[in-house]
Amino acid sequence: MTEESPIEAACENCNHTATYDSSLKGTVQVCDKCGDFVDVGEVEWDESDYAEIDEAEAAGDGDIDLDLDESEARDEDAQN
Ligand SMILES: [Zn+2]
Repeated sequence: MTEESPIEAACENCNHTATYDSSLKGTVQVCDKCGDFVDVGEVEWDESDYAEIDEAEAAGDGDIDLDLDESEARDEDAQN
């Protein structure tokens, strides 16, 4: 790892710009002016969070099977 220059990060809340050590690159720091979170460099988010959302949306396809079961149940009710 080569030594990098400090990273300048702007707070999205108050636009306060602060300089952080390059070792903090990819982390989330607290703005010393307003206390909001500031991304230093490019913050790598845990992709598993997105995977969980994709799985939840994919699980929605199961509703098709549930609908079929419901229509069958309605047919039984009609007969009775
Ligand atoms: Zn701020």
